[in-house]
Amino acid sequence: MTSEREFIRQLASRFPPADPVTIGIGDDGAVLSHSRDTSIAVVTDMLLDGVHFDLKSASPELVGRKAIAVNLSDLAAMACRPTAAFVSIAVPRSGLPENFLTRVYDGIQQLTNQFQFTLAGGDTNSWNGPFAINVCLTGIPFRDRPVLRSTARPGDGIYVTGALGGSLRFDRHLSFTPQLAESEWLSRHTTIHSMMDISDGLSLDLSRLVEASGVAAILDASQIPVHPDVSSELSIDQRLAAALGDGEDFVLLFTADIQKMNHLLRHESSLAFPIYCIGSMMPGTGCRIRGANGQLAPLPATGWQHSIS
Ligand code: ADP
Ligand code: MG
Repeated sequence: MTSEREFIRQLASRFPPADPVTIGIGDDGAVLSHSRDTSIAVVTDMLLDGVHFDLKSASPELVGRKAIAVNLSDLAAMACRPTAAFVSIAVPRSGLPENFLTRVYDGIQQLTNQFQFTLAGGDTNSWNGPFAINVCLTGIPFRDRPVLRSTARPGDGIYVTGALGGSLRFDRHLSFTPQLAESEWLSRHTTIHSMMDISDGLSLDLSRLVEASGVAAILDASQIPVHPDVSSELSIDQRLAAALGDGEDFVLLFTADIQKMNHLLRHESSLAFPIYCIGSMMPGTGCRIRGANGQLAPLPATGWQHSIS
């Protein structure tokens, strides 16, 4: 069995970026140079009935909305705003409830209206499997260029823009607002060294950022914000494990100069969203976590990965 991570690593070495692609496989999305000083980001993500949503309980509007929202989250992770959407659907031959597709596209339209971009194409197929939907979005940077996950520096602070864990319990994974406003604000107010969104769980996604950047991370367990959706009946350790590994949080994980961030956070009283400093980057490799006793322990990557045989 090959892990999704290993599979993507192999693809990245087999298909290195080539002009006009400047950033290829391995980040939240790809970057294409458009002219000498403008670039375009392209992201894509597929959602499957039974894996990323369950049509027995999720409304078609929320399914369409989530398909766009997870891609918007990847654009936010690159500090880009959306410009166009391409949506491909696989419809089960066994049929769908009345108005199902209209309602899926109502959910899509909620977000194209909210974030002011349009549907520009896609593909429609039927088959003997369950409902599946793939979205590809294009975007352009809020500032000079897209922010990558491979450019964290030793000495950076590690930050998240929201609390973590419990996203399945009350369906937050279906209804979250992609953090484009947060990404734009950060782009305009600070220099973000590296960024990605947390889709598969903080510990797994941080390990990807650390590996891509060639640095080591130390998290401070006491500073990791646990979402109120994580049951308060769990032990402290279980709540921390939920924050580290549940996934589908869709908040931003970024690194930046600690001194500059401290200054920003002290002087910015009108911040419309939370920014938590949860650790720092060092020279070296791998992720470790400082527990309540002050001891450092290796941080296993516990998030969600697909298996590919
Ligand atoms: P995210 O969780 O941020 O959406 P993924 O884990 O889906 O990112 O993808 C990581 C990287 O691997 C991205 O650059 C993506 O485009 C690339 N990737 C994933 N699957 C494939 C594939 N089957 N073929 C080519 N590239 C892929
Ligand atoms: Mg991502």
